Amino acid sequence: MTSVKVAVRVRPFNTRERNRQSKCIIHMDQKEQTTFIRNPIDDSVKNYKYDYSYWSCDEDVSNQIFATQEQVYQNLGIEMLEHSFEGYNVCIFAYGQTGAGKSYTMMGKNEFDQPGIIPRLCGDLFNRIKSSSSISSPTSITHVKPHYTVEVSYMEIYCERVRDLLSPKKSQTTGVGSSHNLRVREHPIMGPYVEDLSRLLVTSYDDISRLIDEGNKARTVAATNMNETSSRSHAVFTILFSQSTHDFKTDLTTEKQSKISLVDLAGSERADSTGATGDRLKEGANINKSLTTLGKVIAALAEMSSKHRKLRSEKKIDFIPYRDSILTWLLKENLGGNSKTAMIAAISPADINYEETLSTLRYADRAKAIVCKAVINEDANARLIRDLKEEIMKLKELLKHEAGIDLSPDGASIPFLSTTNTSKHHRLKSTSSQSSEDALERLKENQKLMDSLCMSYAEKLKKTEKIMAEREAAFHELGLYSKNDGNAVGIFTPKNSPHLVNLNEDPLMSECLMYFIKNGITRVGRSDAPVHQDIVLSCTHIEPEHCIITNSQNVVHLKPCSQTAMCYVNGKKVDVNTKVELTSGSRVIFGKSHVFRFLNPEQARRKTAKVESTGEATDWNSAIQELLEKQGVDIKQEMEKKLVAMEEAFKREKEEADRLLRKQKLEYESKIVELQKQVMETSMSQSMLSSILSSSGLID
Ligand code: ADP
Ligand code: MG
Repeated sequence: MTSVKVAVRVRPFNTRERNRQSKCIIHMDQKEQTTFIRNPIDDSVKNYKYDYSYWSCDEDVSNQIFATQEQVYQNLGIEMLEHSFEGYNVCIFAYGQTGAGKSYTMMGKNEFDQPGIIPRLCGDLFNRIKSSSSISSPTSITHVKPHYTVEVSYMEIYCERVRDLLSPKKSQTTGVGSSHNLRVREHPIMGPYVEDLSRLLVTSYDDISRLIDEGNKARTVAATNMNETSSRSHAVFTILFSQSTHDFKTDLTTEKQSKISLVDLAGSERADSTGATGDRLKEGANINKSLTTLGKVIAALAEMSSKHRKLRSEKKIDFIPYRDSILTWLLKENLGGNSKTAMIAAISPADINYEETLSTLRYADRAKAIVCKAVINEDANARLIRDLKEEIMKLKELLKHEAGIDLSPDGASIPFLSTTNTSKHHRLKSTSSQSSEDALERLKENQKLMDSLCMSYAEKLKKTEKIMAEREAAFHELGLYSKNDGNAVGIFTPKNSPHLVNLNEDPLMSECLMYFIKNGITRVGRSDAPVHQDIVLSCTHIEPEHCIITNSQNVVHLKPCSQTAMCYVNGKKVDVNTKVELTSGSRVIFGKSHVFRFLNPEQARRKTAKVESTGEATDWNSAIQELLEKQGVDIKQEMEKKLVAMEEAFKREKEEADRLLRKQKLEYESKIVELQKQVMETSMSQSMLSSILSSSGLID
């Protein structure tokens, strides 16, 4: 039994806070690991003690020791990595208001000394794997190097929908229509899991690092195409790490598994999306169901493990509302279950964020009380496979008796259960009863799980390569190149070619997408356009054929294709009949969500004398500010409107699902009553019959 480790980290002042001359209201006593917060109105001070209080605000404050990315990793990351080598499930999640430093702590920046916990942990994981294999020597025959398997998955939860960030599915990268959402299921043996979430085998740190980049890219494409507010989504990066060791003395193989969940949560602030304030904001903002439920789960768990527990009625079963949201459902084990868990609460130092910061500190304080019961997952896979096999056998038996469907008893894969071959399945469905349909569905689910568990290393590798190639093709089809593509770009040499680089409100998503402008014509439009588009964007405000960009010896022009195609250059709308030259550093906006900076390295180089800016100072905020000033178009408000609409749609869907569930329950209940009545009547008539028979002397 261990408590959740809780750390609080205060970031430096940001530009907005500095511009508003905000005062620092946070102080830390690092000996006591206590964080103090001063109320800017009445100067009263509250304090909270955590496992760690990290001062990352200002390097020059004399009585505070500055906490670097390395230090945070040394304290929390290494401990968790060690636990995962021991075979425990581990989880680190970052909580806090948007802009408080969650992503910086978890992912960090790709610069010297700036990487966060996730890249450091992944790097160390492979370093340790490498050094452990070199330990094995001919003299120590009993302990031969373990065989390691590392698989990763990366998903995003947005408005209670799960998106696979590593899968190349087209619908998801282009975001056309409703994006591809995965189903969350709960298996009696496996527990909650995401169906069909891709798991990619990785063999080096570079592999992982590339996948993180690709995942972030997919996240950015989807968020931009869907015009989503990224700060409202949760990113869950999972490493499945297994070690199998063969002991030659005993000829036994033992396997240890660890699931490492690294979670960058959505911004904790209550969204003020409709401009609501005060009471309306308090009651109305259920904007993020997962985050609200996480709060409830933490509160319930904290209460459960509080000292007063014993005083309460023993009969009362504590109800933890895990299933009320996707996030808590999936993180069930990490919150109060089989896991070693750490939480990092990121806060701002500024007085203007007092309310949010105080709420984060309280949240973190509550999380300290959660107790987890982690166990070493030794041979868990073997056990799982055994249990699944058993269940499959039972289901097959059931199907045989219920619907007369005879399936091969050897537990081999069932051909007609594959999703591609459904005709037979339908035939079976139409002839079988409800319970056999359920059994068939369960059998299908079990078989799928078994297949993924029993996949060999070579098969996993092959599958991973296939997914990687598909993803690369999908990205290239959108006209996207990665910064590291280098040679893959072929005729365009990235260093010299003009290109568009994306800007995003979220620094993690900014400048991760690159679209090259080749010599000649580059078409920008949607995937459903009658002619092939070189840069494929999607969103309600992108026309099938949106605009044409011409590049003649590094002189680049942009021309909209129709009256309705919204194109803005440096905040100014471009008319349909006009051709605008793009200069290096120009801000280019297509539709209402695609914001770019145009870069033309050759041109920039030529104009160095004039100190033509390459646009370093341009970020999403300045580009949007410019648009707002010149056009009165507020993209942020549009985004938030959309979010509220999605929330409402989700609420309606959930209400409908709940209504159906209630209806089903009532139907079942009335069926049960009916059946009970029938049973009663039958047994009554039987007893009557037997008493008549016995009284008439027909039976003894
Ligand atoms: P969040 O993910 O919580 O919304 P970010 O991690 O994106 O916030 O941080 C917002 C900005 O503040 C980023 O530009 C980031 O680089 C910066 N930042 C956050 N924490 C720190 C820190 N400890 N040191 C330096 N910069 C930080
Ligand atoms: Mg973030």
